[in-house]
Amino acid sequence: MYNRRMDECKKIWDILLLGISNKISTVVYDMWFSQLEPLTIAHNKIIIVAKLNSVKKTINSNYRDIIIEEIKKLNTFVDDFIIITPDEISVYEDKIKEDKQESENVEQFTYLVDNNFTFDKFVVGQSNQIVYAAAKAVANQPGTLHNPLFIYGGVGLGKTHIMHAIGNEILKSNKKAKILYCTTEQFVNDFIDSIRNNKDNEQNKRFREKYRNVDILMLDDIQFLAGKTGTQEALFHTFNDLYQNKKQIILSSDRHPKELTFLEERLQSRFSSGLTVDISTPDLETRIAILQKKAFYKNVNLPIEVVYFIAESFDSNIRELEGALQKVIFYCQLEGREPDSVDIIKEALKDDIDVSNHILSLDTIVDATCSYFNIKKEEIIGKKKLKQIVQARQIAIYLINDMLGVPLATIGSYFGGRDHTTIIYARDKMENEIKSNNLIANQIKDIKNMIQKR
Ligand code: ADP
Ligand code: MG
Repeated sequence: MYNRRMDECKKIWDILLLGISNKISTVVYDMWFSQLEPLTIAHNKIIIVAKLNSVKKTINSNYRDIIIEEIKKLNTFVDDFIIITPDEISVYEDKIKEDKQESENVEQFTYLVDNNFTFDKFVVGQSNQIVYAAAKAVANQPGTLHNPLFIYGGVGLGKTHIMHAIGNEILKSNKKAKILYCTTEQFVNDFIDSIRNNKDNEQNKRFREKYRNVDILMLDDIQFLAGKTGTQEALFHTFNDLYQNKKQIILSSDRHPKELTFLEERLQSRFSSGLTVDISTPDLETRIAILQKKAFYKNVNLPIEVVYFIAESFDSNIRELEGALQKVIFYCQLEGREPDSVDIIKEALKDDIDVSNHILSLDTIVDATCSYFNIKKEEIIGKKKLKQIVQARQIAIYLINDMLGVPLATIGSYFGGRDHTTIIYARDKMENEIKSNNLIANQIKDIKNMIQKR
């Protein structure tokens, strides 16, 4: 009887646990939190069962604040929790019955916009700046400026992230906004549920209420509407209803609306009637910035050399890039080492990248330059102004720029946090020297040869 409510409860509890597990040690988590089972939601409280009274007591006295903090982050109708023991379940069943009326409508108040995906955490580069600007504009003026907003692009490029970011931004200024983020799969399932029993008008009503009684509807990955004519029809009516009421609609897909050839024409034209923007594969510079941001949020220190190596190895999909970072962190924890050299990264990722086809790294070029001039790495990276060292440094900078096409800012941070104008100066200087100074031209050629033979 309380299935939906219980489902919702489990979903919410899983999200809470994820946040909680980041804040406490594994030992504490295993000892106390693994003993808890979500039961249901009643009167805006999530009800959790602890098998033992001692667990209940400990959670209440030691971890209440942490749990409440996570609950607040959710931005849902849930605002508190109660821990009960199995013998108290029957008492709460009465409360749940009282709450049944409310429970019928619960879905329309559960939006579950994921607050991990915000604009702050979204790195903007050439590949996504238009999407970013459009998303910001929609978040500032939902329902009026660009309706619908249609975002398309390949897998793992940030479509879902940017949709949640819009939701979070709107919630910042309007806590009561009714924002429904939903996968197309969920939409299809809900629609099928609603027609399963034609006589059950309740189901039908619930479907309409869930999708039409919102301020913002976000439907993710609508390419999954292929072959679902009934759902397309339902979406058409939902769309029109929301649109006429100036409610914002945001859609995402892996391709442009014109290429969604399985869609009824009227839907296709509705979908492209607002603003259509695409998100493409990020360039090296953006990938580097994304990795740095993710590492920052995970509290890991990665030298620029390592960041560069990972960013260079995963060039088509941000989800994979993130997966690689996760794997590196995990591997280093297991090995009790720090992710501080390209060698350990290669070990950690040996199944994912072809390390034999080794990627030319910043280190390789700097090492070769150092050994050619017989100077130390600390010296070339450091601040020494000896003519011989300055020149070697400029040559290394020139070579990195020429052979790797690494962003200037990255080269700057590799060389002890120098700013990009210094790097430009070094590069331009060597470009001129090559033309006018035979000695330097030959030195550069020699080092290049050394590197290419490695
Ligand atoms: P899609 O929905 O397009 O398949 P997602 O939005 O799920 O992709 O993004 C995949 C992962 O990459 C997510 O963890 C997301 O946070 C991250 N990501 C994507 N784009 C960016 C970006 N510009 N800055 C930071 N992280 C990003
Ligand atoms: Mg997605």
